[in-house]
Amino acid sequence: MRIMISADMEGASGVTWTADVQVGTDEWQRFRKMFTSDVNACVAGLFAGGATDVLVNEAHSSQRNILLEDLDTRARMLTGRHKPLSMMQGVDTGMDGVVFLGYHTGAGVEGVLSHTYLPNQITGVWLDGVHASEGRLNAALAAEHGVPVLVVTGDDLTCEDAGSYAPEARPVAVKECVSRYAAICLPPTVTATAIEEASRAGMARAGRFAGSVSGHRIEVEFDAAHLAAAAAVVPTVEQFDVRRVGFDAESMTEAMKAFKVVTAIASGAVEGNYG
Ligand SMILES: [Zn+2]
Repeated sequence: MRIMISADMEGASGVTWTADVQVGTDEWQRFRKMFTSDVNACVAGLFAGGATDVLVNEAHSSQRNILLEDLDTRARMLTGRHKPLSMMQGVDTGMDGVVFLGYHTGAGVEGVLSHTYLPNQITGVWLDGVHASEGRLNAALAAEHGVPVLVVTGDDLTCEDAGSYAPEARPVAVKECVSRYAAICLPPTVTATAIEEASRAGMARAGRFAGSVSGHRIEVEFDAAHLAAAAAVVPTVEQFDVRRVGFDAESMTEAMKAFKVVTAIASGAVEGNYG
């Protein structure tokens, strides 16, 4: 039973503020420990539930956040950037389940540090016409490879979101959203118990199913017109409204690769105070 943990940081225990997840800050150094604690609780639960191999894939920012020296010694960790499938690198290597740990809600909706890939410049993403968080996009990618989503952790609104795209996954709310930058938080020792138990129980659903490849459409809304124009330079990407682009792909894997290109090109076009 091979399980992958896609580990993002905004939805980790205690995180509520930009600096908490901003590489290099004192706060980030502090929250790396809590993030690693959440991951370890998940690893412990997965092994208790029957996992034989756990791969932790770092999915936040520089993708160098988790403290390897403190990681449960039974786990392996994929750390560092520039991975073709990014947050989901490894999902195509015969996994029997995936955990979305430390996830958050999507751009344009309420939730602690809500965003989709870019911190502010993307104001909405739609997958086949449905407003999509990173969780929804990644769940569609997992489904294409026949990999069930076992557990989702994050704030309460992230858990609600997961209920709409992976209703059978076990949600763990490590905090209650009060605003995009505030939450009622539980101490990491408390959330660790909940994450471990959900991960152990979630293993009951582990096991690959027949994945199916189908075409998908992704639409992206930016906060400025020139970002949409920049993204539309990519072949097959069409600017269908002032701040919106859309593209069709033959599979979710191809759609996510194209989305990665769109975000990279748009990021490169962001200018100072006027975006
Ligand atoms: Zn994220």
